[in-house]
Amino acid sequence: MSSKDRHRKGRIAMATTQSDVRGAVEATYRDRTPKSRELFALAGTVMPGGDTRSALYFSPYPTFVERGFGCHLRDVDGNEYLDFLSNYTSLVHGHAHPVITKAIADQIERGTAFASPTENQIRLAELLKSRMPSLERVRFCNSGTEATLMAIRAAKAFTGRNKVIKLDGGYHGTHDAALIGTPTTSNTKGALQDWGLFRAIVADVLSTPANDINAAAKLFEQYRDDLAAVIVEPVMGGAGIIALEAGFLNFLRESTRSSGALLILDEVITFRLSYGGGQQLYGLLPDLTSLGKIIGGGLPVGAFGGRSEIMSQFDPADGILPHSGTFNGNAATMAAGIAAVELLTKEAIDRINQLGDRLRAGLRDAMLANGIEAQITGIGSLLGIHFIKEPIRNYRDALRAPRNIVSALHLSLMNRGMFVAPRGFLCTSTAMSETEVDDLVSAFGDTLATLSPECCRA
Ligand code: PMP
Repeated sequence: MSSKDRHRKGRIAMATTQSDVRGAVEATYRDRTPKSRELFALAGTVMPGGDTRSALYFSPYPTFVERGFGCHLRDVDGNEYLDFLSNYTSLVHGHAHPVITKAIADQIERGTAFASPTENQIRLAELLKSRMPSLERVRFCNSGTEATLMAIRAAKAFTGRNKVIKLDGGYHGTHDAALIGTPTTSNTKGALQDWGLFRAIVADVLSTPANDINAAAKLFEQYRDDLAAVIVEPVMGGAGIIALEAGFLNFLRESTRSSGALLILDEVITFRLSYGGGQQLYGLLPDLTSLGKIIGGGLPVGAFGGRSEIMSQFDPADGILPHSGTFNGNAATMAAGIAAVELLTKEAIDRINQLGDRLRAGLRDAMLANGIEAQITGIGSLLGIHFIKEPIRNYRDALRAPRNIVSALHLSLMNRGMFVAPRGFLCTSTAMSETEVDDLVSAFGDTLATLSPECCRA
């Protein structure tokens, strides 16, 4: 389908209220996706909510994807999309990249997982270390959740302290400590104590607003002697693609150092921002780093690493911390990860960042042209759309933006063949060119043209 057809399919009349907008786009969505609707109903008979990944749910029902190729997706109804989500940033080279696919296929023929270490694990560890000098030693696991869990545990064991600071809205996965200070998805209901967390977590994990040095300083003062670690994402993903300010990050670095706590940088998403990830971009040397997504080449992965003296706690010969996992460092993931990381050259990163800048500028122009008050946050290849013009420096600021309109925008972009996150989050990939970026900009402009400025403010 040509990009023109894709757009024409999603076009609706100018709507003045949010329910007009929602009603029109939802009707079109339902019309285009009968098979997804059918599968969703069937899925609900075997899985609560019809899936196993809360973030993927959106109303009326998520789109079931049948296949991906490069930056393209095809759903089970035969609709095609340009993929501006890349499995939440993890497929930085798009779907089924031939080099990665071959690396996986070659490995699979020789076996997928062994109860023994493999040579490829060393290679991927070396590759990561060569790009991030702070990773003196690394260990692999199967998700970003495990990576942050183990990094936090390592920090607590190493310092002999108990408290951890994270940022409001900072997303580090789904383990207990990670859930403090953030609803995991926009549809999370109930209070924290209803979520089934260990109660002590609430006292030991402290959450503070991003980019607020005074608030963080108070916590440092209050908990100085019992503070094990501060964990932050250099650019907050789940909170709305909010880049931390260099001054704030430097403050965290200095304060952790002077108080004997460790700084954990969660680079599960930000590894893509420069050759050496967010830490190179900000010129920061963390004590520990968590990784995931990209470094598995599309297969499940996580990794954590940092200073050797901290990581040596995991040495089974004389360390204190156990770290097992049936699929840790599994052969297929290591092969895919090596291929993906090698393909992510400095030039490739420059290109996705430039595409991100082009996209950001195009989306901003479209907002201006349509008189819509909104802003695009993020840096390089990561972008967030917020229907609010006041600057967004933290999660609370982001929450002030109207939400319903983002979800209508999402459905409308899906109707126009643009696959983005329901919460208005997008990224570029090496599988794209300026053409796809411009297609998204024009689909976005077409959508805005159907909205009145008033209904974007509500
Ligand atoms: N940390 C960050 C910064 C993330 O964005 C994510 C996932 N989006 C995680 C940790 C958790 O990773 P996973 O979903 O692989 O458990």
